[in-house]
Amino acid sequence: MIIDSHMHINRKVLEDEEKYINAINNNPDIEKVINAGLDMETSNETLNIANSNAKFFSSVGIHPLYIDMVPLKTIDSLYALASNPKVVAIGEIGLDNTKSNLDEQKEYLIRQIIIANDMHLPVIIHANNTNKLVREIFARDAKPKYGCVFHCFQPDLEVLKYLIDNNFYISFAGRITYKTAKKSLEVAKTVPDDLFLVETDSPYIAPEPLKGKINETANIKYIIAKLAEVRQCSYEEVERITNENAKRLFRKMK
Ligand SMILES: [Zn+2]
Repeated sequence: MIIDSHMHINRKVLEDEEKYINAINNNPDIEKVINAGLDMETSNETLNIANSNAKFFSSVGIHPLYIDMVPLKTIDSLYALASNPKVVAIGEIGLDNTKSNLDEQKEYLIRQIIIANDMHLPVIIHANNTNKLVREIFARDAKPKYGCVFHCFQPDLEVLKYLIDNNFYISFAGRITYKTAKKSLEVAKTVPDDLFLVETDSPYIAPEPLKGKINETANIKYIIAKLAEVRQCSYEEVERITNENAKRLFRKMK
């Protein structure tokens, strides 16, 4: 059974969210999904969806590109959300170098790692061209104590070694199905069995052959198939391993 470890269904990113919620509820191959918040509003919304749909779990946090909308002094309201049984992680949080406010982004990231540690939760990291910067924060300011996944991992063999040494996870999304994914495939081949997850990051980055379309959780089958191909194992094996890994990292996901 499939676990989509990172996706987005909320009113900010999808107009007809009911349609996508129903598609997951009615798909017998999908066991669980983790709906990741982007700001306070969407974090609250992912929790509401999780509370009324058994397959849905919630991850709450402020995405680095959304920090302008959330004053730093209000960030402690994540504690109340995180105490809900259906909130399985803090995320997605991290650093994104497409915006120049990296110093501010770092403050939000550090605060949220501390919240995750206080709440005994893993973190879901968004690191867009910032793998090394995030690693510096972990070394200097705050380090996740209850697990961590670099979602939609951008290939970087040096950082990969650091993640493996720390028992941190990486997650593969649609990008590994693209023709330009040579380095990602190298990572997909070498990452240990017990440290990788699969995700769609839907509605974004639809895998081949659907590139450019609105993505959804059912398309995770293309990502699993690609991983099975490069790791020279069966589709079922990748499905089983990533299911077990997700349940180990996201301990509250029962
Ligand atoms: Zn995402």
